[in-house]
Parts: sequence; structure tokens; C-alpha cells
Amino acid sequence: MSQPSVRDLHMAKPGEEFRIKDVDPAEVRLPVGKREGKDALKTDRQELVRLQEILYAEGKQAVLIVLQAMDTGGKDGVIRHVVAGVNPQGCIVTPFKVPTPEELAHDYLWRVHKAVPPRRMIGIFNRSHYEDVLVVRVHNLVPKAVWSKRYDQIAAFEKHLAENGVTILKFFLHISKEEQKERLEERLHDPNKQWKFSVGDLKERELWDDYMAAYQDMVNLTSTKWAPWYVIPANRNWYRNLAVGRILLETLREFNMQYPAPKDDLSGIVIPD
Ligand code: ADP
Repeated sequence: MSQPSVRDLHMAKPGEEFRIKDVDPAEVRLPVGKREGKDALKTDRQELVRLQEILYAEGKQAVLIVLQAMDTGGKDGVIRHVVAGVNPQGCIVTPFKVPTPEELAHDYLWRVHKAVPPRRMIGIFNRSHYEDVLVVRVHNLVPKAVWSKRYDQIAAFEKHLAENGVTILKFFLHISKEEQKERLEERLHDPNKQWKFSVGDLKERELWDDYMAAYQDMVNLTSTKWAPWYVIPANRNWYRNLAVGRILLETLREFNMQYPAPKDDLSGIVIPD
């Protein structure tokens, strides 16, 4: 398939106004259907696996993937489908939950900085420091005077990381409220999915509009040249996975990585019997 840059298709361009209602969560922006899209992801994954191996071998840089979404938005699905097959040794997934007392006693970026992947690794944040301008804002967990300063702080933190060898890819997986209803109903009625259902998710759902406002501000205030947001229409799982995988692939391709030279002079070496 010869195709446009998927980064261009989904990037919230820094400096341009982003309006959440301009993104249709059911949209498919590549000229493919479901079957072709799934096949394309399989092919992409083979290349991803190869490039991750070189990233690991070369050891020069890290990749940080940030996943944010409403409940049922597909963060776990992306982790399962996109990263499937890459060497687990080169990958670290960090979920961010309600902060512990120790975490709360520190500044909110303390736990985040500790989880940033080292060079050679791909780190995936399942939720992230952005919860500190999402759930924290929507529930007034700290005063506005405190959370409103965090956008600039986060942008500065990410700039620091980007200038120190960490390439940051931020994905907002955007589902519609109707789609969330269907997914919650499925969880509620399928005994194999009930473990994922939490009554608390319904309270968050009631706050949908507040969350959308918080997501919109988050994208507008923290989509930067060094760490742009990609807003991925996520009602269709196959498209969500394809788009995220492609953006990761486009990024890794641009690194122009090389396997490192051997540590020793190997000429003339024969492995003894
Ligand atoms: P997930 O929904 O990601 O699969 P959980 O059901 O354990 O995992 O949810 C994690 C919860 O932790 C979410 O409700 C999220 O909003 C909350 N959380 C994460 N970070 C923070 C934070 N900094 N402050 C308050 N709550 C947070």
C-alpha cells in the first residue's frame, strides 16, 4: 500500500486550535477496509519487531508511548495488538493508577520520571502524567490554580526528555459516548469481561462532557513540536491499532538505526570444534 504519512493524518498540529468535535471517533482515514487493515497491521508488526531489535542493539535512544483514553477506549487493546511480538525484554509497560500516599507526598511528576524508559527500550504508559490534568481537574482533586500550571510544566518536562534521547509519542484514543455505552454493556453482560467492569466507571461516564473539555485543553496546551498529540479515532479497534502501529513504525524508520559494529576484530576468527 502506498499511503500518506499517518502521523500527518492524526497529529494535533502544535499551535493550531484543536476541537474535539472535529474528530469523528468512527472515522477511518486510510483507504483500507477492516480485512486489509488487519493484514496491514500484521505486515507492519514484522517490521516493528525488526526495528525494535535494532533500537535495542544500538542502545542510543528510548521511545515513550503515552496512551490516554476514556474507560474502554482501547489502551489495553493497543498494547496487546500493536506491541505483540516485539521482544518483551525491550519493552516496559507502566500503568498509572490512583497515586499511593508516597507518590502523593512527592510532586506529581516524580513517579512518572522514574518510569521513563532508558535508552534502547520502548516504554508504554497506560495512563500517564496527563491524569494530573484530566481526572484531577474533573474531580477538583487540587485547586484550579494548581492544575492549570501543569500544562506548561508537562511541556517543559517532555522537552527535557526529548532533548535527552527520549522520543515521545502521545496517543489520545478517542471513542464516542455511544461506543462506550456498548462496550460497558458488553463488559456487564459477558461473564468473561465482568472482571473489567467497575461501578466507578459509570460515575466517570456521567462526567463525559467535563472530560471532553479537559481532553481538548490537554491537546491544545501540550501538543508540542517535541511531543505532539495524535488523536486516534478509536471506535473501530482495527483502525485504532493500525494507526497507532503505523505512527510508531514511521517514527522508528526515521531513526535510521544501525546494528552496532562488533566489539572485537572478528576477521579470521574460527569457532573451534
Ligand atoms: P485502567 O482503567 O487504566 O485499566 P484502573 O481501573 O485501575 O485501570 O484505573 C486506574 C484509575 O487511576 C483511573 O480511574 C485513573 O483515573 C486513576 N488515576 C490515575 N492517575 C491518577 C492521578 N494522578 N490522580 C488520581 N487518579 C488517578
